[in-house]
Amino acid sequence: MSAFARILIDRSEGRELDYAVPSEFSGEIRIGVRVVVMVRNRRAVGTVMEILEESKVPGLRPILGLVGGETTITPVMMRLARWMADYYCAPLASVMKAMLPPMLRGERVAAKMVRMARLNSIPSEDDLIAVGKRAPKQRQVLERLVHEKDSVPVSELLSNCKASDATLKALTKAGWVDCTELRRSSFTGEAEEVLPARRPVLNSDQESVVQMLFKALEAQEKKDETPTPFLLHGVTGSGKTEVYLRAMERVLESGKSALVLVPEIALTPQTVERFRSRFDHPGEGGVRIAVLHSHLTDAERREEWMKIQRGEARIAIGARSAVFAPLSNLGLIIVDEEHENTYKQEETPRYHARDIAVMRARLEECPVILGSATPSVESYCNAQSGKYSLLELPKRADGQLMPLIRLVDLRLQGKRSKTDGGLSTPLRIGITRRLELGQQIILFLNRRGFSTSLLCQQCGHVCRCPNCSLSLTLHRADDRLACHLCGHSAKPPSRCPECRDPGIQHAGIGTQRVEETLRVLFPKARIARMDADTMSRRGSYAEVLGKFRARQIDILLGTQMIAKGLDFPNVTLVGIINADIGLHSPDFRAGERTFQLLTQVAGRAGRGETEGEVIVQTFSPASPSIQHARHHDYAGFFEQETSFRRAFRHPPFTRLLLVQIRGVCREETFDAATSLAKTLNAMAPPVVEVSDAAPAPLERAHGQYRFHVTLKSASGALLGQLARELNKAMSFPEGIIMTMDMDPYSLM
Ligand code: ADP
Ligand code: ZN
Repeated sequence: MSAFARILIDRSEGRELDYAVPSEFSGEIRIGVRVVVMVRNRRAVGTVMEILEESKVPGLRPILGLVGGETTITPVMMRLARWMADYYCAPLASVMKAMLPPMLRGERVAAKMVRMARLNSIPSEDDLIAVGKRAPKQRQVLERLVHEKDSVPVSELLSNCKASDATLKALTKAGWVDCTELRRSSFTGEAEEVLPARRPVLNSDQESVVQMLFKALEAQEKKDETPTPFLLHGVTGSGKTEVYLRAMERVLESGKSALVLVPEIALTPQTVERFRSRFDHPGEGGVRIAVLHSHLTDAERREEWMKIQRGEARIAIGARSAVFAPLSNLGLIIVDEEHENTYKQEETPRYHARDIAVMRARLEECPVILGSATPSVESYCNAQSGKYSLLELPKRADGQLMPLIRLVDLRLQGKRSKTDGGLSTPLRIGITRRLELGQQIILFLNRRGFSTSLLCQQCGHVCRCPNCSLSLTLHRADDRLACHLCGHSAKPPSRCPECRDPGIQHAGIGTQRVEETLRVLFPKARIARMDADTMSRRGSYAEVLGKFRARQIDILLGTQMIAKGLDFPNVTLVGIINADIGLHSPDFRAGERTFQLLTQVAGRAGRGETEGEVIVQTFSPASPSIQHARHHDYAGFFEQETSFRRAFRHPPFTRLLLVQIRGVCREETFDAATSLAKTLNAMAPPVVEVSDAAPAPLERAHGQYRFHVTLKSASGALLGQLARELNKAMSFPEGIIMTMDMDPYSLM
């Protein structure tokens, strides 16, 4: 039988070519299978998109082989891929690539390998006796493997059992053991401290939420209706995780699988352990968990992936790309901390894992729970319009009060705050007192260095765009203040427009100096700093957290990294050094991010017996985001934020497509952006708003100049269509790069 297959080649921009299916593969070539073919004279990898009975092209070359043997993209995932490519204006090949871990894509990946052994099936007592009669060493090795939950390095296994390679070979041959090449990592998902696996009695709020979820799960089993996505709004510490666990129990009992997404930063051993301790008990009928995070080596990632694909793991926990985990018979998707912007991928395809999760759930016809203490404005709007159904946990599970948030008005601290190295008097006093009591402190620095808005140190005034209300960015190259969203530009004032003070300058205080200051002021305190610079080494993140938990560190100083999902009972003071950098960043989500940050950070303080306190240093104490966070008032924040976004037509009240033009030469790049804006203006129907070309807030990065053109429309589909036309219509000089970002998160 001569069949043909249409293959989407990975490396090409969406080119599909036909190949003959050799009879030896005829049973295995299905839609979604990954194959190796020749394109011209080079070996290439692609995905089977279609099976054809005949082909018009004569003399087709054959498919050479299958990648990874078992790798298949299911029909549902194929539909998801096509939707993504369409929605995010990305080549389908880039989407197929994003869906698979590197080693399963069929690319060669260099890695230092370690041989790992694991059990193929779990031997019964009788099996062990039978093996032991013939070969006692083999039995010993088997017992050892039963004892270990996971793969073990062969060398370790053999030396532990004082067995030889021949023993292992015999066990492999008999089918008991599998050996794989794996690279070892320092981060194995083991907890730095194991929490007991207790199963608390649900409180009444949790109980009613769980009942709602059960109802949806039942309806789904009976295929009554396609379930509406759930938005679970629960304050920090309200016991959302317990709710997830109950829903998962239910899903697993019915034989289905569950997918849990958490932000990368929150994917700590502690988090994973909470799920492991509930479900993953090897040999006792437990359910295995696969963990997918960015610290895995390529080989480890493939191993976890295959565990899922083979059906050995029915729970997958992971960060962004885990949304593509090959779970079959999916019964539930959970997206924890759904507001987190790490769910947005910042390279092509620029997808948002939460939105993909909602789409996948729809295609798989299963419920999805989006959970957060500070839901994104987008999601909460969806809950209000009835697109999502809202579940609420308004109280902390441990019955504790929310911690007190105190504001320090930096305007009153005046010029001194700079000479003080960023620590105001109230914050210093607070630190001193907590240190004396033997309690721990977290100090939070907003993103290092980058601050471009003009802030009056006297009255707190910030220069904003009259059209968008975003803070304007100072561009030194031409000494202009510019709005990167609409292109508005102005001369920078020499005095504050509000109070006439000449002291208007860059926002923020010297963050790099905070650590030095701390060391001088508190020479006896043990201080650790945690940011992208100090945490680049694998494992150092877990190491520092472990030490902090063990109280070997008094003051933890860090960036966003330390704001999320951490639970330290002895932390009683959280200080925010520079709330303004976040608040005044040139982004329509600046207020939302500040509110989220303060709320999440406040949730870290006083989780234990002692009451917690949060000190926020700011030039804008009256800012609504700060005030609402201070009063733990999500509803108030949402009200105010939506009226602002509606007034200035920011998402979600409009859809946004951000087109970025990059190039080495400023002139040339700007010209390209200008002609792009012109072309777009001519192409776009009147209902689409096209901005002027404007410098990005971070105008120069990685040696390239960056300019923005933004498109706004009520219809996302219309924007997508324009983007595709644009891709065809525009051609740029060599060295000029255009990228498109649908529903952008990073506007820098
Ligand atoms: P969230 O995820 O909403 O921030 P967690 O799930 O981490 O909250 O719960 C916060 C704390 O409350 C945890 O220590 C958890 O073990 C505890 N907890 C949750 N539910 C209950 C309950 N019903 N009874 C007692 N403690 C609970
Ligand atoms: Zn503007």
